[in-house]
Amino acid sequence: MKLLLVIMMTVSRLAAAAPVLSVTEIARGIFVHFGEHGVPDTHNRGAIANIGFVVGKRCVAVIDTGGNLEQGRALKNAIKHHTDKPVCYVVNTHVHPDHIYGNSAFKEPGVRFVGHEKLARAMSVRGPFYIGKAKELLGIELTEKDIIPPDIAVENEYEIDLGGRVLKLKAYPAAHTDNDLTVYDPLTDTLWMADLLFLEHLPVIDGSLKGWLGILDELERHSYKRVIPGHGPLVTDWPQSMQPEKDYLTLLLTEIRTLIKRGGYLEEALETVGYSAKPNWKLFDDFHRKNISTAFAELEWED
Ligand SMILES: [Zn+2]
Repeated sequence: MKLLLVIMMTVSRLAAAAPVLSVTEIARGIFVHFGEHGVPDTHNRGAIANIGFVVGKRCVAVIDTGGNLEQGRALKNAIKHHTDKPVCYVVNTHVHPDHIYGNSAFKEPGVRFVGHEKLARAMSVRGPFYIGKAKELLGIELTEKDIIPPDIAVENEYEIDLGGRVLKLKAYPAAHTDNDLTVYDPLTDTLWMADLLFLEHLPVIDGSLKGWLGILDELERHSYKRVIPGHGPLVTDWPQSMQPEKDYLTLLLTEIRTLIKRGGYLEEALETVGYSAKPNWKLFDDFHRKNISTAFAELEWED
C-alpha cells in the first residue's frame, strides 16, 4: 500500500513536471491550442493566445510559443506526444508577449526562429519593459534570454520547407502591430492569421487601423478553407467570420474621422466613439479606449 502511494506520488509529480498542452488537429498535421480569453494577468500568466504547430515529413514548425516558458515547454511536450519529428522552425507571428514568451523552450541547435523584419527591433524596444514588468503583471520570471529575436527576418514573403510541406510566410505593413506575419499551408488551404484576426475577443490595435483594414480588404478577396485567428475559434466560413472585426475597425475609423472633422478632441472620442459595438465583444472595456487613442493619434493629422 505504502509502495503504491509512493508510485502514485512519483507519477503525479512527473505529470506535474511535464504538462502537455491540449491541442486539436484542425487539419492534417496542423495542431492548435485554442487560448482562453482574458487579459494577461498573474492568474493566466499570459497564456491566452492560440498557438500550435505544423508537422511535415522531415520536421515541425512551431507557430507562436505561448505566454510563458512553462506554456512553451507544455507545447513542446504536445509536439513530442503527436510526432517523433524534430522542431526545425519557430515562427513568431508578432511581438506580443502572449505569442513569444515561450520561445526559450525551443532554443536549441537545429531550430531557426523566423519573424517579420521589424520583429527584432520591436523585441529590443519592448524587451526591457517586458522583462521589468513580467513578475508584477504576469507573475512570471522573464530574462533577456527569453526574448529571442528571429534568425530569419521576413521582409515580404518567405517559404519554409518541412519536407513534403512548404509553408508560405508573409510579412505585412503595420496593422495589429508593425510586425505581423501570417503562415499559409497550401496542402490544406489553411491560413494561420494570428492576431490579424480576432473573434469574440475585442481586436487590439497596436499598429495601424488603416493598415489593418487594408489587409482585411486584401485577404477578403481570397478564399481559404480554414483560418486560424490569434484569439477565438477556428474559422471555416471565411470571410464571414471576419466581418465583426472589420465592422468594429470601420466603426472606429468612421466615427473618429467625423469627430476630428468637426473639431472634436481625444477626450470626447474616448467617451463617445464606437460604444455601439460593445455588445458584440468580450474584453471590450479592457481594450476599447486604448484602441480609440491609438486610432485617434493615427487619424488626427491625415489629409
Ligand atoms: Zn497581439
